Amino acid sequence: MDLTFDAEHEEFRAEARAWLRAHVPHEPLPSLDTAAGFEAHRAWETALFSDRWSVVSWPIEFGGRGVGIMAWLVFEEEYYRARAPKRVSQNGIFLLGPTLLEYGTPAQKERFLPPMASGEEIWCQGWSEPDAGSDLAAIRSRATRNAGGDGWLLNGQKTWASRGAFADWCFGIFRTDPQAERHRGLTYFLVAMDAPGVTVRPIPQIDGETGFAEIFFENVEVPDAQVLGDEDAGWSVAMSTAGSERGLSLRSPARYTKAAARLIDLFDQRGAPPMAADAVARAYMDAEAYRLHTYWTASQVARGHAVGPEASCNKIFWSETDVQIHETALALLGPEAELLESGSPGEWLDGYLFSLAGPIYAGTNQIQRNVVAERLLGLPRG
Ligand SMILES: Cc1cc2nc3c(=O)[nH]c(=O)nc-3n(C[C@H](O)[C@H](O)[C@H](O)COP(=O)(O)OP(=O)(O)OC[C@H]3O[C@@H](n4cnc5c(N)ncnc54)[C@H](O)[C@@H]3O)c2cc1C
Repeated sequence: MDLTFDAEHEEFRAEARAWLRAHVPHEPLPSLDTAAGFEAHRAWETALFSDRWSVVSWPIEFGGRGVGIMAWLVFEEEYYRARAPKRVSQNGIFLLGPTLLEYGTPAQKERFLPPMASGEEIWCQGWSEPDAGSDLAAIRSRATRNAGGDGWLLNGQKTWASRGAFADWCFGIFRTDPQAERHRGLTYFLVAMDAPGVTVRPIPQIDGETGFAEIFFENVEVPDAQVLGDEDAGWSVAMSTAGSERGLSLRSPARYTKAAARLIDLFDQRGAPPMAADAVARAYMDAEAYRLHTYWTASQVARGHAVGPEASCNKIFWSETDVQIHETALALLGPEAELLESGSPGEWLDGYLFSLAGPIYAGTNQIQRNVVAERLLGLPRG
């Protein structure tokens, strides 16, 4: 099997590398979980979009280059190589975007995809509720038909919405038929965060930043044009979004191969004990394995196959690899790992703290193991 990229992809890589070299800010942007940092990252999205680098695999009419999924992987490799800013629009471009391309009407694609690609409209996800996390089908937020029959009234509460404190739009599922079986009777809505009746309550994290928000809906009017997919068929639309989060689009392998390369540099600088070499080698091999596996998945997708429950294996692997890489780095740094840099955790400590969330978000790893057991291995339900 030939795992090298062809000349066209290498040309694309060179173009991406040159652009990133010329445009990536020299100083890191402030945290995207602060109001100022969020806007700084939005401006970066706009800069990417201006030269058509924000969503390279999307169709040209929506702001992409229509270059396909393998080229997107090449772009991601260059993006991490250049140490470019985090993608504040990731909920939109990596999660909702693919779902809109699959389920959206032509009018919805035209309305929502270009401002998503440009950073003009940044999205948050409204899945979790106070009593519905792992068991997402337990959600209680409701959508009822407007008295006039056109549009909907939304009521209820969502929580843990990443970037919900600053986002412009929210996507999520609401119960539209309370009599139906739990996974039916749910509908997928797109809601403007400034719509009357939406209240956002930021959740301060232990570091004081507002990475999350609770969102309250009180008689929020939403037109039919903001229903994605069919009424009462929101579960399968939501699973398409979750598949992108666990499978191909949220966590590209470049994130891990780059981190593993930095780990090797750290190991070299430290002249670390030989016993650490095993953990460093393991991190490198796992990141490489993830890269090769992703190429395989991408080539399947390029041939028209959908990513199914195997996305759950993917999610377990990327989240556990992230923890392992960062744990090894902290072990190499020893007590220095905890030193603050200009009042903030250093890159490794910051990355480690975030890696601990990986086994929780996008559906906990316990739940993903249940999916693997039941849907891939055919084991009986526990
Ligand atoms: C960094 C981060 C970002 C997030 N961003 C968002 C977001 O943008 N939007 C959003 O809607 N939500 C978001 N979440 C919330 C996330 O989706 C939930 O935390 C997650 O689904 C788990 O739900 P829960 O916290 O209610 O835990 P619970 O569902 O209460 O689970 C508690 C524990 O019990 C285990 N458990 C539960 N049921 C089972 C079972 N059947 N079998 C085995 N073990 C089980 C779980 O694995 C977990 O360990 C985010 C979370 C984090 C950490």
